[in-house]
Amino acid sequence: MASPERERDAAAPRREVLTWLTDMDGVLVHEEVPIPGAQEFIEALQRSGLGFMVLTNNSIYTPRDLRARLLGSGIDVPESAIWTSALATAQFLHDQRPGGSAYVVGETGLTTAMHDAGYVMTDRDPDYVVLGETRTYSFEAITRAIRLIDGGARFIATNPDPSGPSQDGKLPATGAVASLITTATGRAPYYVGKPNSLMMRSALNRIDAHSETTVMVGDRMDTDIIAGLEAGLRTVLVTSGSTPPEQVGTFPYRPTVVHESVADLVDLVEQWAHADPEPPRGPAGQ
Ligand SMILES: [Mg+2]
Repeated sequence: MASPERERDAAAPRREVLTWLTDMDGVLVHEEVPIPGAQEFIEALQRSGLGFMVLTNNSIYTPRDLRARLLGSGIDVPESAIWTSALATAQFLHDQRPGGSAYVVGETGLTTAMHDAGYVMTDRDPDYVVLGETRTYSFEAITRAIRLIDGGARFIATNPDPSGPSQDGKLPATGAVASLITTATGRAPYYVGKPNSLMMRSALNRIDAHSETTVMVGDRMDTDIIAGLEAGLRTVLVTSGSTPPEQVGTFPYRPTVVHESVADLVDLVEQWAHADPEPPRGPAGQ
């Protein structure tokens, strides 16, 4: 008969939390609307002196733009603490093929990141076609991308999200446009953003942090939580966004802990910096 202590002794050693990664939409904001507790959570992280990064699959905006947008919602995140799928993609390409070339279909968030990574943007025999989120897809640009991939360019996309939210309803997103190109070329892209755990690993590398002392906070089991898990992080699901509490138990994997919202995490930043998070038990932990 194993006591809770015995069970924990049998598990891998758990450590204090020295770094926090957190998703943005559904955790800190719902589009432009701040989630109560988000600013207090960011303040707690800054006060603690711990490393943290805010992650988003959105590749439209630069970190500077995103900082300004968050600030408009009353959430003050430093530009250097924002990690987008565009930055992760540019970092990945720089690691794979430094100083390469790409034909980019996307917005400033992606073109700036590619430029900063030392890439040349060209439509003549590029190493890669890189697709990101845009609201101004053109038939010409997609045709060009298709022909370049047919001609041997490698196909990369920032994130697989098929659609995104807007105030007027659903919008087609990067994954939907990637499918169009895949259907025309017979070639699927390599996606860098969540649920690829590369997104988390590159964020950790950026701030010199380690997976075993990091938690990932997210609102989606099938992106944030699985990616955090696969990157070797402990995970916190907040049920303020996509995954409702009653669905958590239907997944074949589970987060380390479940909380209602980021407001519950404010006091845990300091607490977990000295002690490991208690794993979920019984029905309360789903
Ligand atoms: Mg989210």
